[in-house]
Amino acid sequence: MDVVTIGESMAVFTPTSVGLMRQATTFTMRIGGAESNVAVGLARLGHRVGWISKVGSDEFGKAILSFLKGEGVDVSRVKMDGEAPTGIYFKEQRRPNDTRVYYYRKGSAASRLTPADLDEKYIAEAKYLHITGITPALSENCRETIFAAMAIARRHGVKIVFDPNLRLKLWNEADRAKEVMLRMAAESDVVLPGEAEASFLFGKHSVEEWGSRLLDMGASLVVIKLGANGAHYFTNAHHEYVPGFPVERVIDPVGAGDGFAAGLLSGLLEGLRLTEAVQRANAVGALVTMVEGDADGMPERDDVERLINQRREDVT
Ligand code: ATP
Repeated sequence: MDVVTIGESMAVFTPTSVGLMRQATTFTMRIGGAESNVAVGLARLGHRVGWISKVGSDEFGKAILSFLKGEGVDVSRVKMDGEAPTGIYFKEQRRPNDTRVYYYRKGSAASRLTPADLDEKYIAEAKYLHITGITPALSENCRETIFAAMAIARRHGVKIVFDPNLRLKLWNEADRAKEVMLRMAAESDVVLPGEAEASFLFGKHSVEEWGSRLLDMGASLVVIKLGANGAHYFTNAHHEYVPGFPVERVIDPVGAGDGFAAGLLSGLLEGLRLTEAVQRANAVGALVTMVEGDADGMPERDDVERLINQRREDVT
């Protein structure tokens, strides 16, 4: 595999109309979860990607597996748990710019992942291990599983890419979230926080300060996401701001960060210059916001190239 990722995927229900969800009468169902979104993004860009997880032995678990298999994600290391359900979540669009999520995932099949569910060889043979701050928030055993996977990656020289994806709703205590995420960042090669996450981890500072703190902790590449404005990247040798791609109308912001991670990983796998890899990440993130659904808007290579070339034509 080019990339192996670990985490929970869920059935996502969205009311078909904007407004309070309590008044909704019809919902669409799609599949979502940060790590499987990244997997779909990478597969659509033509990379080999495996997703490690657990799903319930129920209709939603089967829907997740069919969707990911259909997208070309390797699900050979996903286990079915006959004793716990697949998690679900609801995505309410209260107003055009106000999207809220409600989780029903406590005790889900994925929250029962343990280090014994990891296949060392599978992770060892990947080029990158992608992880997020969501999985360790699901349960103590999930936290142990993530640290065990990171230890395997480090033992075998597999680069670790960490997206904090802070979800305070999933943590009992904010301090605990901070402590775990800082430990994860310290053991990662690439760290991809948004501004709010960097501020949560280090306090209100400049992006330069956040970048240098994360480099000092041991990362070789730090990319700080700025929403519509794009991103900054930092290495020990260089720091650069890479502008985003303006989106006229955001349809669904969820999944932009996952698209960004997929775009960046894709660029790193292909050995692009960092500026170009971050540009690809920005393009994928922007394209994801234009489509309803967490993973549904992940673009194919042509779509990404078209958006980037359009920018080139605009500036020349
Ligand atoms: P998520 O909610 O998916 O966890 P995040 O906080 O990790 O998101 P954002 O900074 O919101 O990440 O978005 C990630 C990237 O997606 C941005 O750096 C940018 O490249 C792109 N992006 C996000 N929102 C927009 C937008 N409105 N217009 C253009 N690009 C966007």
